[in-house]
Amino acid sequence: MLVIFGLSHKERPLGLIALGCPACGHPGPLSLVHRRTRFTLFFVPVLPLRSRLETRCPNCGTARAIARDEARRLGADVRS
Ligand SMILES: [Zn+2]
Repeated sequence: MLVIFGLSHKERPLGLIALGCPACGHPGPLSLVHRRTRFTLFFVPVLPLRSRLETRCPNCGTARAIARDEARRLGADVRS
């Protein structure tokens, strides 16, 4: 019996956030994305594994995880 399984990554852009880049010193704004990882069985997502918010620097491309409360405090429209 052949079982095909793997991981699926999906990203949803949430706009821009007023924050500077700690890696290159770019003054901002940084783009904010919601990144989700799910376990797939026969290419169908069946189990959510990870969900987090990330900021991306448009200058150097550095991605950094950000807490939901911190993103909300900086003006992002983040649902619970
Ligand atoms: Zn940067």
